[in-house]
Amino acid sequence: MITKPTVQHLHRLICRDCGVRQGELHQLNCCMEVCRKCGGQAISCGCEGRATKPRRPFIAWRDMCGMCGDLLPQLFHVPKAVWAFYIEHEHRNKIVCLDCWHFIEERTDGGAYARKHGQALLEHSPAWLERVGKPLDTPDPFVKSIFELPVEDER
Ligand SMILES: [Zn+2]
Ligand SMILES: [Zn+2]
Ligand SMILES: [Zn+2]
Repeated sequence: MITKPTVQHLHRLICRDCGVRQGELHQLNCCMEVCRKCGGQAISCGCEGRATKPRRPFIAWRDMCGMCGDLLPQLFHVPKAVWAFYIEHEHRNKIVCLDCWHFIEERTDGGAYARKHGQALLEHSPAWLERVGKPLDTPDPFVKSIFELPVEDER
């Protein structure tokens, strides 16, 4: 069973590569260090010359459903037109969990528009890979449980 993460748990997340806490700078050669010129991965982007931006402290950004507040909802995909049909303009940049999405569909038109123009597919599912034209053996990077992410020891 997957236990739901708490806010306290999220505050204790540490960098999965170098182990620093949130708000701290990554250690030397950490793969999560962001390049100060291009914003890419610092150890691999190959930028040279003077940095233009400050070093970024480690922040464990977390997604949550904009309707029910569920932490780390599994992401799904719908065609752009379907998203625009069901989600009001000022909320289109939010994330919605699948349960809330089905609720909104149901209350809007019983899901008729989505049935015609493209229904929600979980990201990295075979049907999704087919829709976005990726090979079926593409690995799924989704972390199933927040508890698979490292946290600092309790003090
Ligand atoms: Zn790090
Ligand atoms: Zn760079
Ligand atoms: Zn939700």
